Amino acid sequence: MSGLWLGVVADDVTGACDVAGGIAAAGVPTSIRLGAPTGPAEDEPDDDGCVVIGLKIRTAPPERAVAEASAAAEWLLARGAHSIYQKYCSTFDSTDAGNIGPVADALLRTTGAALTVGTPATPAAGRTQRDGLLYIGDRLLADSAMRDHPLTPMRDSDVVAVLQRQTAGTVRLVALPDVAAGGAALATTIAAAQADGARHVLVDAVGDGDLDALAAALDDLPLRIVPAGGAGVATALARRHPGAGAGARSAAGPVLDGRRIILSGSGSARSREQVAAFPGPVLILDPLTIASEGTGGLESALDAALGDGDGPVLVSATAEPEAVRAVQDALGRQESAQLIESTLGRLAALAVERLGVRRLLVAGGETSGAAVEALGLDRLAVAGLAAPGVPWTVGTAHTVTGAPAVALLLKSGNFGGVDLFTTAWESAP
Ligand code: ADP
Repeated sequence: MSGLWLGVVADDVTGACDVAGGIAAAGVPTSIRLGAPTGPAEDEPDDDGCVVIGLKIRTAPPERAVAEASAAAEWLLARGAHSIYQKYCSTFDSTDAGNIGPVADALLRTTGAALTVGTPATPAAGRTQRDGLLYIGDRLLADSAMRDHPLTPMRDSDVVAVLQRQTAGTVRLVALPDVAAGGAALATTIAAAQADGARHVLVDAVGDGDLDALAAALDDLPLRIVPAGGAGVATALARRHPGAGAGARSAAGPVLDGRRIILSGSGSARSREQVAAFPGPVLILDPLTIASEGTGGLESALDAALGDGDGPVLVSATAEPEAVRAVQDALGRQESAQLIESTLGRLAALAVERLGVRRLLVAGGETSGAAVEALGLDRLAVAGLAAPGVPWTVGTAHTVTGAPAVALLLKSGNFGGVDLFTTAWESAP
């Protein structure tokens, strides 16, 4: 077989790392590109491997999300990808305007596929889907902390209804009894939904066995499909790859010794716990102070804190939902997000270019997108996992000549144990 086994279009950078880590751990050579590549493909994994393109389109205007996702898919198809996967968050992060639905429709147009089939369910991370309702652990999505997310508050647990509000194409549910029937029967059910007019199918899954049944059904289907979902479906597909089970193969190069920094702009509940549990020095990023006084104070405080000791320094904007709402009321939702993201991005660049930082842990998808953009990185190599869904990566700057290799742990808000900010360094490249 020549051409890429799978091309993945991920709607944020931490999601790209999550899915790439899962596929690589299954034994499939995998690399991450940041932003839709423009030039010809080079330095890519073997023909039978996977390329994940990490975008920053989760909360972008839908037209921009569609344009970037389509460009990424076209590049992957030109690279010979046999199939294009739509990666979104396992908590279905989106708004009624998008962007899961608009991007799904765009990938159908770009690939000429008949329908998208998938699920946000990723049982290994505690996300399950039953009767079209998404659960985080034993709580419905709308009763979880995602209810108060700063940018994508999720107040409806019915992902079929959520997706239907984002697309003119018909969305259908395939419920657990049909999934339990297994590969060939499940393929028949999905094909029947398509014959009945469905453009998007969401499939219940409460365990990895359900995802394996779905992956087998996708192989059986005589239709062209865009598989879609969290990292769960992609990892199940990778378990069927001929190279699966060979163990992770890493193309990550060495990173020189240097200082360490943690940047948290995440609003997620787990990040709040991780910030509270971090025993080292913490610099608080107060958006209202930055808005009135600029970033100078924070930059010199970071310089001093890094000089004071060997351990990692945490810079955090992470705050309780009421505090986030107060900032949003004062500055605007998008404006405050933009201010914090650009400040943390600027600190990331300062830390690497001038303060000798070589290892960075960044919490939050949007925040991570801002950090890699500010660092001028356009590709990441996957290294070892620090926690499920959170691989270390090594970034080489291609837009800044002579910039050093840096190790990056880009963490989705709700991932990692409470002590990740302390334990992650043990597995750092
Ligand atoms: P997560 O999805 O884990 O919450 P993201 O980085 O994807 O992390 O999104 C969080 C968003 O909330 C970012 O755009 C960030 O700038 C914004 N944010 C973080 N802290 C605050 C705060 N104190 N006030 C207002 N917005 C905030």
